[in-house]
Amino acid sequence: MAESDTKALGRVKTYTSGLITSPWQGPVAEIPAADIERMEFQLALRRRGISDQAVLRAMDAVPREHFVAPEYLDCAYADQALPIACGQTISQPYVVAYMAERLEVEPHHRVLEVGTGSGYQAAILSRLAREVLSIERYRTLADAARRRLETLGYANVAIVLGDGLAGAPRDAPFDRIIVTAAASDVPTVLVDQLGASGKMLLPVGPANGAQHIVKFSRATDGTVARENLIAVRFVPLSRGRAREL
Ligand code: SAH
Repeated sequence: MAESDTKALGRVKTYTSGLITSPWQGPVAEIPAADIERMEFQLALRRRGISDQAVLRAMDAVPREHFVAPEYLDCAYADQALPIACGQTISQPYVVAYMAERLEVEPHHRVLEVGTGSGYQAAILSRLAREVLSIERYRTLADAARRRLETLGYANVAIVLGDGLAGAPRDAPFDRIIVTAAASDVPTVLVDQLGASGKMLLPVGPANGAQHIVKFSRATDGTVARENLIAVRFVPLSRGRAREL
């Protein structure tokens, strides 16, 4: 399983509306194309093994079409990563749902995200957690995501411009940490910002090579366990705030 290579993107099927037909009355209702597309989206997530009801509800509630670039509107519900500004990507829906599920977010949790990008993963997490702090190194992306989330009414997400590799020491510890760009080495600074019973998910691996989602779980005695999960493909985690854009 790989997050889609944005260069290999093709157009996806277009949905047409469907008729609900009764055997004795004939066609009785028409289902709009957009609803069929959203039903397909949910089914695809379930087929791939997402079963957490809160995660599925969040994936249903957040309108991904607001997070993709206008030229990719017709692919908003396709299960693929898509290009956004600054050479970055909005993650593939399955990977967003998978990470949200494996993060085991509870309603009282404070979550740190590194790599706001479009703000889509942050929006999903905001429906599962008490509050989300998301850090982005590109000003253009941080500003756009902030505006987008404000417009959509996600009031429990704060977007901060900065270097997520430093985490957010003043707001630490966090119940959950999620990194949505690939680290070549595990940033121990972030592991240190996990609270008691904290969990962290991040893709680890070289920029253009084999990456895996790695899960860190802090036990009550302070020890940290590491588990390797699925293979993925993410844009690299870069050091420092972006100097341009
Ligand atoms: N979660 C995003 C996916 C973003 S892609 C979404 O749902 O759309 C990864 C993002 O991580 C990019 O926007 C990239 O600029 C950002 N990033 C990379 N290194 C970073 C760092 N050190 N600090 C903060 N953001 C970083």
